[in-house]
Amino acid sequence: MSEKIDIRSLSKESLREFFLEHSQKAFRGNQVYEWLWHKGAHDFESMTNISIETRQFLNDHFVINHIEVDDMQQSSDGTIKNAIKLHDGLIVESVFIPTPTRTTACVSSQVGCSLNCTFCATARLKKMRNLNPDEIYDQVVAIDRQSRVYKGHKLNNIVFMGMGEPLLNYKNVLKSIEMITSDEGLGMSPRRITLSTVGLHKMIMKLADDEVKFNLAVSLHSAIDEVRSKMMPINDKSTLADLLHSLQYWYAKTNKAITFEYVVWKGITLVAYCKKVPSKVNLIEYNAIEEDGFEQADPAAVAYYQRELERNQITVNIRHSRGKDIDAACGQLANKTTA
Ligand code: SAH
Repeated sequence: MSEKIDIRSLSKESLREFFLEHSQKAFRGNQVYEWLWHKGAHDFESMTNISIETRQFLNDHFVINHIEVDDMQQSSDGTIKNAIKLHDGLIVESVFIPTPTRTTACVSSQVGCSLNCTFCATARLKKMRNLNPDEIYDQVVAIDRQSRVYKGHKLNNIVFMGMGEPLLNYKNVLKSIEMITSDEGLGMSPRRITLSTVGLHKMIMKLADDEVKFNLAVSLHSAIDEVRSKMMPINDKSTLADLLHSLQYWYAKTNKAITFEYVVWKGITLVAYCKKVPSKVNLIEYNAIEEDGFEQADPAAVAYYQRELERNQITVNIRHSRGKDIDAACGQLANKTTA
């Protein structure tokens, strides 16, 4: 038996064509598309404005691959880490992060990661595959539901800071964002979405050329090539100079300031680099993972960085870890619950 196609891999246009090719009205394609995305149908039977024969016909040709929340762990601070089971049995993690005023979804873009950042637990899983647009979209839908259940309001923000490097799954990540922001999907504002990257300069320029409307965050972690390359091997191919050039290009095209993410470990400097492009800095508390040789800086060091940045008119946020007791904090996502 030939394998059925995941119907959500089709564009609206292709769905319309599919119906035309099978001697049906093209607008059926629009109706089915709405069921699949906006209405989040899990099966063809629920598509009540489509005839039973057509539903059967769709069932013969396609599947709807839905993610499954396989396991949920709740932290004492309210953060929830979801283990998400994909149709092929692989697992990724997503995180629901509530604060008193808003909720944030942290979503994965790949199963594992290929970039080998020495301080990150996901790197140890290696990359298994890219997520499809619907698998990313479904993570957001699931967390939107958690936001409504636990906080009584819809999801406010989305960050692509889970497993994987979103710019190495460019097409699917952009497609998922298109659906998240479109009225045919969740209708969220792109200003509420932040994509975080290790800083692949060519892809950042592509983002700028594609005139995307969401925010960009870059995991900087050191402003010295030698130091950064040791922690983030990708820095050999995409150096700080390349990165800066691409960020200046991004700013020129989009007029959007960049967020630099910077884990405060012992003894590294960054002010000079950040001054070269409009940006703000998220100072991140380092979350210990096993045997990576890093240590968390003490609060005095964080305060020092904060002072130095502010003295240079750079906005600073201190990002304390959320969900640390359940390994849901930055860089700790490693499918431990299901291992
Ligand atoms: N690949 C993307 C997104 C995933 S990581 C990127 O690198 O930006 C999300 C954030 O967590 C990144 O800023 C990453 O550098 C940071 N991070 C990874 N491991 C960490 C750790 N052990 N402690 C604190 N932050 C970590």
